Amino acid sequence: MNNDVLWAPWRMAYIKSDAKEEPRKVEVAQGGDPNCFICQAVADSTEYDRERLVVGRTESTVAILNRFPYNNGHLLIAPKRHIARMELLTPEESRDIMAELSYWVGAIEKAMNAEGFNVGLNLGRVAGAGLPGHMHWHIVPRWNGDASFITTIGSAKAIPQALEAAWELLRRE
Ligand SMILES: [Zn+2]
Repeated sequence: MNNDVLWAPWRMAYIKSDAKEEPRKVEVAQGGDPNCFICQAVADSTEYDRERLVVGRTESTVAILNRFPYNNGHLLIAPKRHIARMELLTPEESRDIMAELSYWVGAIEKAMNAEGFNVGLNLGRVAGAGLPGHMHWHIVPRWNGDASFITTIGSAKAIPQALEAAWELLRRE
């Protein structure tokens, strides 16, 4: 596997550029963090799913496109609860997350003709978690020769359009 995808130094260029602002702030559930984008997405009305890049919800999970993708279609699967540690997951949440990972890998494979996937969890900031307080699994679709999505697509400004397109595609699944 190409290490560029895990560490992606070019990703910083995008984060520092004109990253789309998060939409409005809403009140989050008890135990949630109002500054956490996952809690915000969980708490907000589904009519804001497009702005928040939410492609799916289940009883205990939410699926959100990564606003700072490592690759096109980069999806995050998280428990709805703001929890940081694996042992805090209930058996239902664990089952739900595994089912969602499996479902979305299949959906991305079908919708985007992905040829492979990196699926994983970064626990703790030292492990690369950008949002250590609210655990989330990454699904990064891979294509043969995809070394760098950002350099392929040419400019950071193209990312919001790519995100919109990915949202449309996955939302249909
Ligand atoms: Zn949260």
